[in-house]
Amino acid sequence: MPGKTTSESIKSLGYSVIREMSGMAADYENVISLGIGEPDFNTPAVITKQAFEDAKKGHTHYTHSQGDPELLEKLSVHIFNETGFRVPPHSIIVTHGGMGALTAALKPLLEPGDEVLLMEPHFPDYMAHITFAGGVAKKVPTFFEDGFVPRPENIEKAITEKTKLLLLNSPNNPTGAVIPGDVLDGIAEIVQKRDIFVISDEVYDKIIFGRTFESIYTRKGMDERTLVAKSFSKSHAMTGWRVGYCYGPEWIIAQMLKVVNYSTACASSIGQRAAIAALDIDRSVVNAMRDRFAARVDLVCRRLEKMKGIRVVKPCGAFYVFADISLISQESRRFAIDLLKKQQVVVIPGYAFGDSGEGCIRIACTVKRALLEKAMDRLETFISGYHGE
Ligand code: PLP
Repeated sequence: MPGKTTSESIKSLGYSVIREMSGMAADYENVISLGIGEPDFNTPAVITKQAFEDAKKGHTHYTHSQGDPELLEKLSVHIFNETGFRVPPHSIIVTHGGMGALTAALKPLLEPGDEVLLMEPHFPDYMAHITFAGGVAKKVPTFFEDGFVPRPENIEKAITEKTKLLLLNSPNNPTGAVIPGDVLDGIAEIVQKRDIFVISDEVYDKIIFGRTFESIYTRKGMDERTLVAKSFSKSHAMTGWRVGYCYGPEWIIAQMLKVVNYSTACASSIGQRAAIAALDIDRSVVNAMRDRFAARVDLVCRRLEKMKGIRVVKPCGAFYVFADISLISQESRRFAIDLLKKQQVVVIPGYAFGDSGEGCIRIACTVKRALLEKAMDRLETFISGYHGE
């Protein structure tokens, strides 16, 4: 019955393991969730207030698909202040969160069968976005021993005649790895030599600990072959407002405009007004949230380091700790489900982030310190009696 079939490519995608774990948790009481990757803070009040006032003034209509002109102008200034690059408003597009940026970017860049180099462990949703665009993900593993920083030589080895794109994510979800400047230089050299385009997912750029964020976009010649994806979700605790943006060469933004236009019309008008307010707030507000994440990540790492059988590399950014549990269990799914059943703590099994994430768990430091301590107590109790039952 051809009328009642669904596409093989969508069927090939699994449901989100992150959502699945949260769904399972609903059957238990007294759960501490370190599962979903979203800040627990509310959006700073000044942002919400300004957005509501703007909504009352009538900012409740479709905006231009490229974005609210006022936001585009402000983003252009913001990008210059952050990178020193003059990116005009027509080379920027506002999207339905960082996810909207990925969908809008991949569709016009890929022909069916084009390969996308993906550092693993990776944000699980990339697989779906690449599939939606007809592309094929080619995984390039990163290693615990390297702090999950990609090795440029492994990127080069993975390139074939079908390679179109390299997808980078720094700071990384789930590992918290931040790609240092010299590694970015090495990667930039390879992609220029081999004529590969880059998407740089920088949605965690403001959540970085003790160092300055560096982007591949700023490497010599890379502004011509890099599309940067950003979002207000994590940096400004604005996940529900659904505002992200992309900037890069005008020829690709012009095509992305069609995808945004035909798929979502535009990002939420009120969300965009909130983003304008977000760009106006003092950076100290954003930094205060970052510092709280840093303290939590520190706490979790200190506790994990003392637990027998668990290994951690301290993340340099984002708000996740990707802990190696392979000495205790090689089956991260079993481990995470048992942890939920026995101690009511939600973590995400590492396999959800690709094969090389197996043997690890992702802990999102998105609850207050006291609760994190409690979660670590429970984890400690759990592993002391755990035999992989
Ligand atoms: N990129 C990465 C690496 C993420 O972790 C996320 C969300 O978790 C996104 C993009 C999408 O963010 P949003 O659509 O909420 O802006």
